Amino acid sequence: MSLGVADRLRPFGTTIFAEMSALAREHHAINLSQGFPDFDGPEHVKRAALEAVEAGHNQYARMFGEPVLNGAIAEWFARASGLAVDPDREITVTAGCTEAIAATLIGLVNPGDEVILFEPYYDSYRACVAMAGATPRFVPLRAPGWTIDPTELRAAFTDRTRAVLVNTPHNPTGKVFTRAELGLIASLCVERGVIAVADEVYERLVFEGEHVCLASLEGMRERTVTLSSLGKTFSLTGWKIGWAVAPPALTAGVRSAHQFLTFAVSTPMQHAAAAALRSPGSYFEGFLRDYRDRRDLLCSALTEIGFRLTPPAGTYFVMADHTPFGFGDDVAFCRRLTQEFGVAAIPPSAFYMDAELGRPLVRFAFCKRRATLEAAIERLRRLA
Ligand code: GLN
Repeated sequence: MSLGVADRLRPFGTTIFAEMSALAREHHAINLSQGFPDFDGPEHVKRAALEAVEAGHNQYARMFGEPVLNGAIAEWFARASGLAVDPDREITVTAGCTEAIAATLIGLVNPGDEVILFEPYYDSYRACVAMAGATPRFVPLRAPGWTIDPTELRAAFTDRTRAVLVNTPHNPTGKVFTRAELGLIASLCVERGVIAVADEVYERLVFEGEHVCLASLEGMRERTVTLSSLGKTFSLTGWKIGWAVAPPALTAGVRSAHQFLTFAVSTPMQHAAAAALRSPGSYFEGFLRDYRDRRDLLCSALTEIGFRLTPPAGTYFVMADHTPFGFGDDVAFCRRLTQEFGVAAIPPSAFYMDAELGRPLVRFAFCKRRATLEAAIERLRRLA
């Protein structure tokens, strides 16, 4: 018997994010791989965290979230979706969206069930489907445009489908699912009695089109678990505050797993998270404007250097085709880029079941200060 990793997790190895950030550190490369900002979250939110510690909010939080934060999430979700939710019965605070994904899948999916994922997919989805003992089914997002073929989507639904997981805006492609695409997904979920899991952590990072909350579509409120977090919208990825919003029957599943995974999340940070969600409108305007500038700066420079790409409609990632440089596959390309050019990026084959599909691609993160992006661009110019 092996003394190492359990069979169900062995196929996933070490996450590509940990691997590339370690390689970036080793080679003193500018890290455009793992998506975390190299700037801090807003001052008023940092102050709220210090004040919460000082005020003595330092013991276990309520299992499903501090009342002040559940209340702030209910207001936040109502603004995004137009839906009123009960803060105590329909919201669970988790250790980042990553725990929300795990708690949702472990708490609601049975061994032998199938879960539909769009490919490329965020890597933890597949690992959590495996931890739930379920089987993933993949529906490709086809380049260019990352479109869905309705026939392929329909064919992915079987008698064993328990859930479909939708990430909009989408990591790693930057796609923002259209209302029509979400409408098709919704109608299939309703027709087949399937649960939807909507990972909407990039909800405030939309440059083209509109963010549509899947739960807001006809027939979806009662069957959707909406996941989001503080990290991206407030540049506080290290705080690990996320949440799941779902009707009571689905919330029961999420909480049944959450209570045994983490039980509760950092108490003072929850108080500060409530202050973040109640930030003035001016914060969000500045946030989006700055990100649009970063996107435009990086995308036009990459295009000039010779990458082929379409600027992303959302998220803080851009997927580009690196094949004009002739460095081999995505893994070889990202290694050389980190070691010889001093810029780290993510090889997207980690996001595909069929790794071949990711080979021509590279993902850059632009959640970085202008000076960082400019320094990375200077280094990348040597590719041209
Ligand atoms: N969401 C981040 C990304 O896609 C990574 C988060 C993590 O490292 N687990 O880069």
